Amino acid sequence: MLKKYTIQLFATIILVMMTPSVNAVNWSKFTTPTNTKPYTIGKTNNGCISGAKALPLEGDGYLVVHLERGRHYGHPLLIQTLQQLGIQAQQQQIGIFQIGDLGQARGGSLPFGHRSHQSGLDADVWFNLKPESYTNLNKQRSNLQQPSMLTRNKKGLNSLWTDQHRQLLKLAANIPEVDRIFVNPRIKQDLCKTVTGNRQWLQKIRPWYHHDDHFHIRLHCPQSSPDCIKQAPLPAGESCNASLAWWFVKHPPTVAKKTKPKKRYMPSACKPLLTN
Ligand SMILES: [Zn+2]
Repeated sequence: MLKKYTIQLFATIILVMMTPSVNAVNWSKFTTPTNTKPYTIGKTNNGCISGAKALPLEGDGYLVVHLERGRHYGHPLLIQTLQQLGIQAQQQQIGIFQIGDLGQARGGSLPFGHRSHQSGLDADVWFNLKPESYTNLNKQRSNLQQPSMLTRNKKGLNSLWTDQHRQLLKLAANIPEVDRIFVNPRIKQDLCKTVTGNRQWLQKIRPWYHHDDHFHIRLHCPQSSPDCIKQAPLPAGESCNASLAWWFVKHPPTVAKKTKPKKRYMPSACKPLLTN
C-alpha cells in the first residue's frame, strides 16, 4: 500500500516538474481552445480562458480582420455579444463594422498589441463602417488602413464621424453583458454634447488613450466563472464633467503614458490549460 502511494507521489512530482511554469508560457502557441466548459480565469490583463469559442470570421453586420493573428476567440458571451451587435447594426442600417482582436484560443498574454484581451472578455471594434472603402483588402484582411475619427490637431472629430457611430456605441453599451467601452476622450466629449433622451448608457463609455479608430468592448465577469476577477465598478453618472475635462488639461489623449509592465503572476487556475 505504502509503495503504491510512493509511486503515485513520484509520478505527481515528475508531472509537475514537466509542466511548464504558467508564467513562462508563450500563450500564442495555442491555436485551439480547450475542449472544456467556458470559464474565464483572472483579470483581463492577467488571465486566461478555458473552453473559448471562435467568432465566425464574417456574419450579419460585421467582418473579422487580421485573420493571420488568430485572435478571434473569446468567452461564448463575447461571441454572442458581437453577433448580436452585428445583427442590430444591420437592422438599423449602420453599416458593416470590422472586428479586430478578441483574444487567443486560450487567452493569456499577447506577444504584441495589448496588455488586456487575456481572459476572453475583450474585443476591438473598428469605427470604419464601410469595408468596401479599403483599397488594400487582402485575403487575411491585414494591413488595412484604419481611419482615425480625430481631426489633424486631435482636438475634435473629423468628417468621418457620423451619427451611425453614435448609434453603434449606444447599441453596444445597451447590451447587458457589456461592462464598459473604451473610446478616445474626444469621442466621449462628442457623445456628452450630442446625445439626447436617455443618457444612462453614457456611464459605460469610458475615455481612454488612443481609441480614435476603434472602440474596445469589455464584458462583465460571467456569473459561471467565479475565478474571474472583477474590475472596479464604474463611477456613478455620465462622467461628462470634471473627469472628462481632466483628459484635456493634463493628458494629451492620443499619447499613452509609457509605463513598464508590472511583473505579474498568472492565476494558478490557468495551469490545466497548458496540458489540456
Ligand atoms: Zn482593445
